[in-house]
Amino acid sequence: MKPRDRLRIAMQKSGRLTEPALELLNRCGLSFRQSRDKLFCFGEGEPVDLLLVRDDDIPGLIAQGVCDLGIVGRNVLNEYQLTAGLDAAPLSEWRPLGFGRCRLSIAVPQELDYQQPKQLAGTRIATSYPGLLGQWLRGHGIEAGVVTLAGSVEIAPRLGTADAICDLVQSGGTLVANQLREAEVLLESEAVLAGPQVLPTDERGDMIELLLKRLDGVIQVRE
Ligand code: ATP
Ligand code: ZN
Repeated sequence: MKPRDRLRIAMQKSGRLTEPALELLNRCGLSFRQSRDKLFCFGEGEPVDLLLVRDDDIPGLIAQGVCDLGIVGRNVLNEYQLTAGLDAAPLSEWRPLGFGRCRLSIAVPQELDYQQPKQLAGTRIATSYPGLLGQWLRGHGIEAGVVTLAGSVEIAPRLGTADAICDLVQSGGTLVANQLREAEVLLESEAVLAGPQVLPTDERGDMIELLLKRLDGVIQVRE
């Protein structure tokens, strides 16, 4: 990897985290010139550029050193840590950012009289988070089938491909619409600033420290 003298931050190109992430960076005194392909945004004042990508790609880009920091949901960061394999560079959650709040929950059909985790033994649970679900199941000593789906997880029980789901929940509206109800919360999530466990020792490290200081100021004002 070629040494870089400008800091590069990865964030979601288009989705729930895009607007609040940009606003937060602006409040930290960063502004960007949007390029035509909208993948790369050049920072105007400070030596900090943006890479706009799918949220799922953000942890990998940091681990590979393509980006120095990323703004991503804790759910995506933790899932990556659990599934990336031992040779992937370990990442850290540097700061919680207070937006994009949701929870990763197991939901079951409304008509099921759910009382305790043991009832999930022997069922098939559909999810896009096999790492986090597997960890929770192991922690509770439950053997269940994990059906990994990339999307539309909430319709799996109606299609008969799963008995329950493990998915992100915000208001619960999607669950109700699919005749499901929340049974267990596995993770409380929000957007976080993610980075390598060890910060670079060159100018980029200094820039990260400056950014963290400004971020702490902005977050404190908001609280
Ligand atoms: P991409 O195209 O970048 O892969 P996506 O469809 O995976 O987009 P979004 O739906 O925009 O992503 O969600 C991004 C993040 O927002 C989630 O990973 C999660 O941290 C957070 N989030 C907050 N509330 C919800 C919700 N109700 N459903 C899904 N994600 C939510
Ligand atoms: Zn995604």
